[in-house]
Amino acid sequence: MTTSTQSKANRALRSRPMRILLATASAALVLLAGAAPVQASHGGDANSGPPDNTTHYLERFNLTRAASGATTHGLGQLDRSVMDATYADGPETDVLIYDAYYGRTGSWQGIAGRTNCQEDEWWWDGDCDVYRLRYNLSYAASYGIDSWRSLACHELGHTAGLGHRSAPSDTDNNSCMRNKIDSSRPRFDAHDISAINATF
Ligand SMILES: [Zn+2]
Repeated sequence: MTTSTQSKANRALRSRPMRILLATASAALVLLAGAAPVQASHGGDANSGPPDNTTHYLERFNLTRAASGATTHGLGQLDRSVMDATYADGPETDVLIYDAYYGRTGSWQGIAGRTNCQEDEWWWDGDCDVYRLRYNLSYAASYGIDSWRSLACHELGHTAGLGHRSAPSDTDNNSCMRNKIDSSRPRFDAHDISAINATF
């Protein structure tokens, strides 16, 4: 993350002074492609909370070309549901999207992407107003296009309130919400779409 990116993010946050900043304990993580499907620290239910409404403004902060293109793919996946996802910058943004070389150690060990609830105006309602999505280039920089798409679909799925799908519940083996990124699963399946739609 560059300094200018950081300051832009800070400005974006400062522009919502009335909101309560809340770092939730639940972080939504995804494992790197090819890794053993070990459960990450959030367990099988990676949930950043559902969004507060279906209007979903995404803002990209100086993303690499691959990350940007994959995000557009993920945006299109959200739009298959009742979510109305578009790109927009400014104080009403719902998803702040970053990529950086976060490393391969500590809390980033084995983690190619991470989504958390950055800002929750009414924390008691369980909804999330602003998510922060981070792609870890330390792993994803070497991804091919479909692994990138799987990663973006997965992380943006968390911003629509989706948790993880396990192998027994993904009988068609076709959901990007599996814990392990796989280039053969770059999309939401019908179950994921139904789950998003059932939120509203
Ligand atoms: Zn995840």
